[in-house]
Amino acid sequence: MAIEKILIIGAGTMGAGIAQCAAQKGYQVTLMDTTDDYVQKGMDKINKTLQKGIEKGKVSKEDAEKVRSLITTTTDYTQAASDADLVIEAVFEEMAIKEEIFKNLDRLCKPDAILTSNTSSLSITELANLTNRPDKFAGLHFFNPAAINKLIEVVAGKDTSDEVINTLLDLSARLGKIPLNVKDAPGFAVNRYFVPFLNEACRIYEEGIANIPTIDQAAMDGFKIGMGPFKLMNFTGVPIAYHAETSLYNKLGDAYKPSGALKKQFEAGSEWSLEGEVQQDKLELVKRRMLGGTWGIAAELVNDGVASPEDVDRGAMIGLRWAAGPFAMMNQLGTKEALQILEEYSQTTNGLWKAPENIKTLGSENKPWSIKYVKTVKENFLAYIYMNRPEAMNALNSKVLKDLEEAIDELNNDNEVRALILTGMGNAFVAGADIKEMMGQTLDQSKDYTKFGQDVFSKIENSGKPVIAAVNGFALGGGCELALACDIIIASDKAKFGLPEVNLGIHPGFGGTQRLPRLVGKARAKEMIFTGNIISAEEACKIGLANKVVKPEDLIARAKNIAKTIAAKGPIAVQQAKTAINQGLEVSLKEGMDLELDSIGVAFDTEDKVEGMEAFIQKRKPVFKGK
Ligand code: NAD
Repeated sequence: MAIEKILIIGAGTMGAGIAQCAAQKGYQVTLMDTTDDYVQKGMDKINKTLQKGIEKGKVSKEDAEKVRSLITTTTDYTQAASDADLVIEAVFEEMAIKEEIFKNLDRLCKPDAILTSNTSSLSITELANLTNRPDKFAGLHFFNPAAINKLIEVVAGKDTSDEVINTLLDLSARLGKIPLNVKDAPGFAVNRYFVPFLNEACRIYEEGIANIPTIDQAAMDGFKIGMGPFKLMNFTGVPIAYHAETSLYNKLGDAYKPSGALKKQFEAGSEWSLEGEVQQDKLELVKRRMLGGTWGIAAELVNDGVASPEDVDRGAMIGLRWAAGPFAMMNQLGTKEALQILEEYSQTTNGLWKAPENIKTLGSENKPWSIKYVKTVKENFLAYIYMNRPEAMNALNSKVLKDLEEAIDELNNDNEVRALILTGMGNAFVAGADIKEMMGQTLDQSKDYTKFGQDVFSKIENSGKPVIAAVNGFALGGGCELALACDIIIASDKAKFGLPEVNLGIHPGFGGTQRLPRLVGKARAKEMIFTGNIISAEEACKIGLANKVVKPEDLIARAKNIAKTIAAKGPIAVQQAKTAINQGLEVSLKEGMDLELDSIGVAFDTEDKVEGMEAFIQKRKPVFKGK
């Protein structure tokens, strides 16, 4: 599902920002609104932001011009809908308006076009069911300002296909966003706990437990944030907080009831007064309540299968700029104590809100939340492995390596999966290793760590399935070595490769000194490793490090094409060929020939060989079973 042309309906705050974001990444955009005046307002917003970028030296005049030239405006989407690959709807938050738009789009768009909504509070499944393509319908929830904010929620409705979600996750990365993979549920992953965070502050105030400066200070201490909830509401708008909490309340019930103080403030149409002295003796109590209300709801949304702990944490760190997400915070304190805080919070709701089972189970044994930095997605015979720590450019550390090992082990044992695609979430493939973690290691620890990294990468090299690295950005140090452990490297033209370890007074340790010379020859490998120079994707391709260079928007599609082609062949034959090539390079030609003899013997002795040859004679496509 290659996406080139994007139609955006609604040129308001969000639509204009999304249009700018997509055009900046080279997509052809049509921006539509009901009148010329509204369309012009949208373009004015884009021009203003670009102008600011030019003044700050962040955007060149040529790039700004290119962005403008990629955006076409219209007040009638009939034509643009007919050849759009993707539609993003960003009109007023009213079901009736959206209903009319989606019914029209369903009729006008190509059958395989993907329809999405930027809605904050409407159900994606309900919107999808207005069309005849609920499998090609999803939520794409950008955050304001859409051209700048890195976070995006990719929301799957009940019937959204995995392929559409994968396409949208990939598109999000191409847009420079960090996507959260979320199921359709009120508030999705971020607002579900962030809005109650604001509401809880109002409840505490309403109950007379502390004054506003104390609640703001306690929240700042508890969540290590620069601004408390009341000050933040004054910036973003009390009405937004009230409407968002009301929307959660309408769908999720009494535990989410807007606080009376919030309602009163909304009706008064004024900001919160931040005057007063911090009441030191109340800080701890308020902090525990704020943490309880927020952590509890985060636990609840994971319990309901809306999002994973790591995605919720990522939403907090990237979208809300918290130092850590709810789950990392609970792990740091210990889930036993976190559960205690949640039980205390439950009492303040008179049992209306109850701690969900997941935290009860973990807390009873003080076991940490499982936070995974490697994500796997299966699609027919293929599996994607995403290095999923985009907030740190997917840098490797012992936890990431452990998660990668688990993912590889699981997929290696999965007979359904015939080819793997390994890529990075966000802008980087893997930008290196966590230097801070390495700095704290003793010599023995660093040897163990290096050996572990080597072992994990060897599992990739020795996997019975072909592994294709789709290198989307920086592949530096351990990231370059990770790509080297794969069978085929497809690189985006934005990718960069390098082994810059010598800059740190060390040299590559996860196989770089061994695999690189085998791939590109001794002289070129030495040049790269001794200088620590970083090379472009094109250069990597020229020296034989990468197989192909493609446009960023084509990267996953091209990697997938190759993976699909291989997956359609005899799996045992591919596996044996991989072994013969890999092992043969380590021995003499004569020994290599013997290895080939052994592996071809294995392939000859399979049902797949019978099927393959019969199919050839009968002029039909073979159906291989991997037997
Ligand atoms: P907005 O009021 O700034 O813009 C909405 C635009 O839609 C207006 O320009 C309006 O003229 C246009 N419009 C209305 N009916 C239309 C129609 N039938 N056809 C074409 N255009 C039409 O609103 P916004 O803040 O950009 O929000 C848009 C959507 O994004 C909403 O669903 C909202 O919930 C969601 N959202 C908003 C934010 C935010 O912070 N503003 C954040 C995330 C999501």
